[in-house]
Amino acid sequence: MKNIMFIAPPAAGKGTQAEIVVQKYNIPHISTGDILREISKEDSEIGNYVKETMKNGGLVKDEITYKLIKDRLDRDDCKNGFIIDGFPRNLDQAKEYTKILDELGYDVGLVIYLDIKEEVLEKRITGRRLCENCNTIYNINDPKSCPKVESTCDKCGGKLYQRDDDNLESFQNRYKTYVEKTKDIIDYYKNMNVLYEINGDATVEEVADEVDKIISNN
Ligand SMILES: [Zn+2]
Repeated sequence: MKNIMFIAPPAAGKGTQAEIVVQKYNIPHISTGDILREISKEDSEIGNYVKETMKNGGLVKDEITYKLIKDRLDRDDCKNGFIIDGFPRNLDQAKEYTKILDELGYDVGLVIYLDIKEEVLEKRITGRRLCENCNTIYNINDPKSCPKVESTCDKCGGKLYQRDDDNLESFQNRYKTYVEKTKDIIDYYKNMNVLYEINGDATVEEVADEVDKIISNN
């Protein structure tokens, strides 16, 4: 089993695909967010530093993040592969990540890039509606997941609402940041010959099949 990293724009379904791989191959999902939350509960110098930094909305220093990620990847459950999530976020971090893997005797593995056009994501985001009662997710821009009666949940009859951050402006900002930060990372992995592109504009099952093919063929 290879180590896996997904690169995808916001709302491309990266989390869903990662979860499918975790279940199917029984490998750990290593998320930098989880690592930081976990360490912040510890009463240690590093734990207190992370807790304070997160509380103040700051960014944890790269050196600390690197150390924590390296410690986590060095645990036994990662020896047979893992999914890395939320890291690296820029080219410097990507280079450092290669070093960390090298020191641990791992290789970069597979970098799977879910490519979806911005317009498609915009429709997903702006059409998303949630049931205030049972949290079922609908999309009024997609005939396949549109509710039968407008603004009403098919399952429980609850009222549907739109989340505050599911608006065009918020999405466009997130998307712009994503493009700026990940372009270099994508090129970096392309040059290393570890980047696999998938058309992310397909059903969850179709994308999962493509992901599975890449994993099985490697
Ligand atoms: Zn409902």
